[in-house]
Amino acid sequence: MDTALTLGRVQVSAFTDVTGPFPVKISHLFPEVTPEQWAPYREAFPDTFVDADTWQVHIGSYLIRTPERTVLVDTGLGPAPPPFFGELRGHLPDSLAAAGVAPESIDTVLLTHLHPDHVGWNLTASAKPVFPKARYVAHQADWDTFQNPNVQRALGFEFVDKTITPLQKLGLLDLVSGEARISDEIMIRPSPGHTPGHICVAIASEGAQALILGDAIVHAAQVSEPDWRFSFDMDAEAAAATRKRLLDQVEREGTTVLQCHFPSPGVGLIVRRDGGRRRWKPISG
Ligand SMILES: [Zn+2]
Repeated sequence: MDTALTLGRVQVSAFTDVTGPFPVKISHLFPEVTPEQWAPYREAFPDTFVDADTWQVHIGSYLIRTPERTVLVDTGLGPAPPPFFGELRGHLPDSLAAAGVAPESIDTVLLTHLHPDHVGWNLTASAKPVFPKARYVAHQADWDTFQNPNVQRALGFEFVDKTITPLQKLGLLDLVSGEARISDEIMIRPSPGHTPGHICVAIASEGAQALILGDAIVHAAQVSEPDWRFSFDMDAEAAAATRKRLLDQVEREGTTVLQCHFPSPGVGLIVRRDGGRRRWKPISG
């Protein structure tokens, strides 16, 4: 088992679903940011670029094991993503199996939000849960948003009725609003902007703490440039405000941060050099 982080009595492991070129060019993902502005981040984080205008995206999940619970955060892109994602295909179950993690050992699946690269392995092609003993947890506001036909149409590709809606019909979905406690060590923290019901996952045990950011931040450059507008943020202003609030908080509290779209394992700290800008400092990997 490849443990990315130990926090008191809790172990967090990182699993890769897929790594590859993101289908939308960086200049479209961040339309207001020039290649010159990207230059220092191309230098600092070369493994996040295929070329100057192509993001090498990592899509992953985190497994949190407490003495009582086994919780998976996000289920990746899955085996049959919308054609939008090109050649990218997920392999999360293989990654879990290679580490000896049986699907039935997972009792809870937390979905940071309901974009297709976070829900891909919720269900099999025949609408059976991939994690057969798990409750699936998402935020009510994301359920409401992604059930809206106008939102589905605006996204331009179908996935909701394959990977999300059947969970409710099967009685496996728990929708939360506001902060929610999952276990003694795990809390859900709403962080709207990327999607209306986006959540971060806070872990605390014996004085150690970490925060799984979901897509509140998707690229390490945003640690230094929280105002850069990311075109998949559904509410750009709220997303920027959430990024700044989260960065203030984790910097102040020295919280370890985990990010599924950073190169695996995506574990690090928010630091400043000589009182300058914040920057991402990976801890391992
Ligand atoms: Zn994502």
